[in-house]
Amino acid sequence: MILDLDTNNTDDFKNSVFDFCIVGAGAAGITLALQLQKAGFKIALCEAGGIDYSIPSQDPYKGNVIGDPYFTLEGSRLRYFGGSTNHWAGWCRPFSSVDFSRGYLGEEYQWPITEKELNSHLDEASEILEIANDFEYGSHLTDQIKKIKIQFSPPVRFSKKFKSAIDNSKNIVLFLNSNLFDLAGDANRISSATFKSYTGNILNITAGKFILAMGGIENSRFLLWFREKYGDKFFSASTPVGNYWMEHPHFTLGQAIVEYPIGNTRFYSLTGKAQIQKGILGCSFRFDLQPEGSTEAMVREVSCLAPKLGKKLSDLAEKNLICGVRFRASWEQAPTYSNQIKLSDSLDAFGIPRVNLYWKKEPLDRLTLTESVNAFSRWVTQENLGRIRLKSWIVNDLDYPANDELAGNHHMGGTRMASTPKFGVVDKNCKVFGSQNLYIAGSSVFTTSGSNNPTLPIVQLSLRLAQHLMA
Ligand SMILES: Cc1cc2nc3c(=O)[nH]c(=O)nc-3n(C[C@H](O)[C@H](O)[C@H](O)COP(=O)(O)OP(=O)(O)OC[C@H]3O[C@@H](n4cnc5c(N)ncnc54)[C@H](O)[C@@H]3O)c2cc1C
Repeated sequence: MILDLDTNNTDDFKNSVFDFCIVGAGAAGITLALQLQKAGFKIALCEAGGIDYSIPSQDPYKGNVIGDPYFTLEGSRLRYFGGSTNHWAGWCRPFSSVDFSRGYLGEEYQWPITEKELNSHLDEASEILEIANDFEYGSHLTDQIKKIKIQFSPPVRFSKKFKSAIDNSKNIVLFLNSNLFDLAGDANRISSATFKSYTGNILNITAGKFILAMGGIENSRFLLWFREKYGDKFFSASTPVGNYWMEHPHFTLGQAIVEYPIGNTRFYSLTGKAQIQKGILGCSFRFDLQPEGSTEAMVREVSCLAPKLGKKLSDLAEKNLICGVRFRASWEQAPTYSNQIKLSDSLDAFGIPRVNLYWKKEPLDRLTLTESVNAFSRWVTQENLGRIRLKSWIVNDLDYPANDELAGNHHMGGTRMASTPKFGVVDKNCKVFGSQNLYIAGSSVFTTSGSNNPTLPIVQLSLRLAQHLMA
């Protein structure tokens, strides 16, 4: 059933007791609701926005970014039914094995769950996102370099794909235009949550368990706000809420002319072994084919600098055996305490503080990039697979350019999963430390960010959380 708190009467639910109240109907919240309803549980799925975009529903996403150049916070996510899957691009890849063996960088890098525990949900998550569960090319190219596979979702728009399943469900009530506003309860247990609509209508939901699935910034924002209002009444007040926020830096590194076999593969990274040896994180390289004509221009340039090589490349170009590509990277950012979400002094229309996002790339982030680029370029040159021309900011170790891709709109960390409250906000079952019935879903629980896109693991983690909640 779908009800709109702005226009429908919700009095029938005044005395209802739901098994679960899920706040936020994006990829995480919708996946969770659909799983839990299969087991017959009664679910209130409370979504801040309507079926479509609206200015009042988007407005609470405005905030400030302090630090490195980044997108506007309201432009980097969507606040209505389906969440940011209404504009995601569909790139999918799961975490790699090495992401679960980052102990060499410190205790705070260690996930409290294994790759196997997460990947037992990979088949089902792939089915939801309409991709093949096929991410491996098999053997590595060398013990340093490997090809990586990305799968592309159509991309699935959760709002369109699952609206009628939710509407026809006997167990889910989706409340639209319902903005989380307050909590009530006692002794580390929430008994009810209050939601407000844009016209001021109020909805109180009583439930056994509450799950925040409001996205990779709002999950932190609301925990920070409830902590400020209620101290440790509902959950531990001494965890790093909002800290260790992460993105995936995305930059163009240069141009290359490469042989077709490597140009065709498009995605590469260093092997886990190489990352551990170098003490770095994950970095993915991507070759984007250049428009026609640019290959010849690049060959001409090489011919001026190295006539012999230029002649060889020119012969290959005539036979269409080489291609000109843009050489790009997106990589894993170190979880850093000072990269964080904080409450600002400015309030949204509901009187809730907006966020300040403090975000900077750190020395380990740069080291990950330069070590990975060096190893990859060396391999291309040694194997005579082509030539890479890097931009001067990377060759001369200058500041990152401000007019590039910058990042991926991937909001991760802030309520991260850890085995101790020292390094995280939720335990391995996504339960908030110090709470008896509050859980978090979404990429805010990522312990580390990997160099993969976040939505596939978000769906995997929601399936895993559903399994735990149903047990
Ligand atoms: C342009 C763009 C391209 C992207 N491309 C990719 C890609 O190719 N691959 C990839 O893996 N990822 C991509 N992403 C990221 C991806 O979209 C997100 O990781 C994913 O959608 C997050 O899902 P979620 O359910 O955790 O959060 P969200 O989608 O943010 O959902 C949160 C939901 O909570 C609701 N909500 C928020 N506040 C409240 C409140 N106070 N009360 C009630 N409800 C609330 C919101 O309205 C929203 O519906 C992209 C993102 C952008 C912006």
